[in-house]
Amino acid sequence: MKDEDNNMEFTFPACRQAGELVPIKADQLPSDEIMNDSVCKNLIREAIGMLKRSYAPYSSFHVGAALLTKTNKIYTGCNIENATFTPTNCAERTAFFKAVSEGEKDFVAIAVVGGRKGNIIDYCPPCGVCRQVMMEFCDPKKFIIILAKSEEDYCAYTLADILPLGFSAKNIEDE
Ligand SMILES: [Zn+2]
Repeated sequence: MKDEDNNMEFTFPACRQAGELVPIKADQLPSDEIMNDSVCKNLIREAIGMLKRSYAPYSSFHVGAALLTKTNKIYTGCNIENATFTPTNCAERTAFFKAVSEGEKDFVAIAVVGGRKGNIIDYCPPCGVCRQVMMEFCDPKKFIIILAKSEEDYCAYTLADILPLGFSAKNIEDE
């Protein structure tokens, strides 16, 4: 991992080509930046490890997440369902709320995996509520969302790509 200054300078290659949303494949990640292939694989491994912690007795859809901070810490999360449904919390928000409650507010990337009964057969994109929580704490042009089927099969997006025109604290600042 590079020093703090480099982390702050981090920018990710554009995810869009000719107006189409194009996932960044592993071999397109810059190897000399904080988000290299091994960092992605490590986050995916941590997210997959959280599938066994998922509490999903109603949907049986297990989700795991691993959130990387700029201080190079990883906060994990799983989805936590509830018999009354509304209080259910997603894996991504579990990870974010754990991190923020520990004093973290600067984030680099999150890996998300999921599938019925914990079997990953497709990418598991964050729901709209989780995207909005990411918008509260992350620079949408820099924060990376890694969707994975395995450590070898993943793609990455910026938050701006999956939440265009996102609403944040900047929208309610005084002029
Ligand atoms: Zn969610």
